[in-house]
Amino acid sequence: MRGICVEKLMSREVSCVEPETKLKEVIKRMRENTFSFLVVTNKKIPVGIITEKDIVCILDDLLEKPEISQFPISAFMSSPPVVLNADTTLIEAFEASQRMQASYLPIVDNSGEITGLVTQSDLSRAHFQMVEKQRMAVENTIAVRTQELLKTNEHFRLLALEDALLCIGNRRAMEIDLGCIHETAKRYDRTYSAVLFDIDHFKEYNDEYGHLAGDKLFIRIAGYLKQSIRQPDRIYRYGGDEFLVVLPETPIEDVPIMAQRLVTGLADLNLPHTKTPIGVVTISGGIGSGLSEKNEKPSWRNVLEEADRGLYRAKGNGRNQIAFDCSTVQSSFAAEG
Ligand code: GH3
Ligand code: MG
Repeated sequence: MRGICVEKLMSREVSCVEPETKLKEVIKRMRENTFSFLVVTNKKIPVGIITEKDIVCILDDLLEKPEISQFPISAFMSSPPVVLNADTTLIEAFEASQRMQASYLPIVDNSGEITGLVTQSDLSRAHFQMVEKQRMAVENTIAVRTQELLKTNEHFRLLALEDALLCIGNRRAMEIDLGCIHETAKRYDRTYSAVLFDIDHFKEYNDEYGHLAGDKLFIRIAGYLKQSIRQPDRIYRYGGDEFLVVLPETPIEDVPIMAQRLVTGLADLNLPHTKTPIGVVTISGGIGSGLSEKNEKPSWRNVLEEADRGLYRAKGNGRNQIAFDCSTVQSSFAAEG
């Protein structure tokens, strides 16, 4: 890649004078037109440059020898000028102007004739703009890549927290969230509850209908539970064919109705399962209570253990129902008689 060429930057209107033009005439032209320089050309070939700086030196000499005003400009011009071709790159031109300390650089064609001119400030400005553009492009690329990376990271983070089959939170997500909910409840004297659900006779379902059909049913039940819980409640795959529903800010007294509604609702879907007593797919649930004044628990694991004991009872009592651990029933409901 060659980059920008000076042809793009040069001005094509260049004020020139012949070498034999008298100094007096040159000064007059510069003054009248407020030119800061003139290119001296001989049949369109640049042979020198007269700049304001040269004029100051000439003025000094002129005070000593007034007759030099009649000298041709070729006697005073800086020569030879630094000339460039139209296809000289910005970087090459910029380096040449710095190296040769040339403020005005005529552009010539293949036969050496002047076609335009660039100044050192044109080059500096264009060089600065180019560097700035490149910097912005790099910054933009970095910003885009960073966004992509953050998105990918977030995607992987979510994937790491999601059960691939059921598209609900996995056990890791459950542990993180539950830890947080438990600590918040403890810190602010709040409570929460959890219900551990397990599919009844799921092994027999797989044996009867095949594993793929088992997976489909599993996904169906996850979807059903997900859309049946309230917005702040959360559902996770706890492991095997177990789901944990966590209900923040919900005292245990409020849970049985909701949990029973989920159990009954699933049976009402009438998903065939010839190996269950009622011929349809059912689930069982065990309830665990979070923190309360009566029922302080050091860890969310205690809440899960309690829900697990409840689930064990529900299975033992014939499945397709919810149950509590005995001690929970005593501590939470005994007072109500
Ligand atoms: P129970 O009523 O006592 O819960 O009986 P169960 O047959 O459901 O037995 P259990 O819960 O102990 O066994 C879980 C079964 O769930 C074992 C396995 O066949 C099935 N299972 C676990 N994960 C998956 C899965 O990802 N896909 C399928 N298709 N089946 C699974
Ligand atoms: Mg089961």
